[in-house]
Amino acid sequence: MSKYIVTHDVNSCIGCRACEVHCKEKNDSPPGANYCKIITVGPYERQGIPRFDFVYMSCFHCEKPWCVDACPTGAMQRREKDGIVFVDQGSCVGCKACIAACPWGVPQWNADTGKVSKCDLCKDRIDEGLRPACVSKCVTGCLEFTTPSEASESRRQHFAEQMLRVQG
Ligand code: SF4
Ligand code: SF4
Repeated sequence: MSKYIVTHDVNSCIGCRACEVHCKEKNDSPPGANYCKIITVGPYERQGIPRFDFVYMSCFHCEKPWCVDACPTGAMQRREKDGIVFVDQGSCVGCKACIAACPWGVPQWNADTGKVSKCDLCKDRIDEGLRPACVSKCVTGCLEFTTPSEASESRRQHFAEQMLRVQG
């Protein structure tokens, strides 16, 4: 996992897909290629009420990325300083080995360039002290750009508050 993580609060997500739109705009990704994606789950019924859930999905920036191991040219790389996994477009030969290797179908094919591209956590924005495009434009604030230890701390806090509410 990279030094950073994007967390998603499913309970606050309204499925507006502003994150997808701003990701596409920022990366100029071709039609059909989504570096981040909102997956619709449902409809299903809870307490007699029909519901949908929306789940944010992007690259996990794995600690030992299958895509990097599979790439024969070194185009798919893991950034030394923070573990962000990205594609060096100049070295990609379009063999699609990374697409086959990633268990979650994260690397995306660009038919216009004949190369693969994917989420790089907006590393250019991060280097400028900004948050990734998807996070910065989320209308409900359900996406959070944080570190794994801060994410786990805030989840414990949230759990403790919920427990107190149930008991009170
Ligand atoms: S593309 Fe897939 S294998 Fe590679 S870092 Fe992302 S989630 Fe992991
Ligand atoms: S498609 Fe490009 S990035 Fe993917 S494995 Fe082949 S050379 Fe590497």
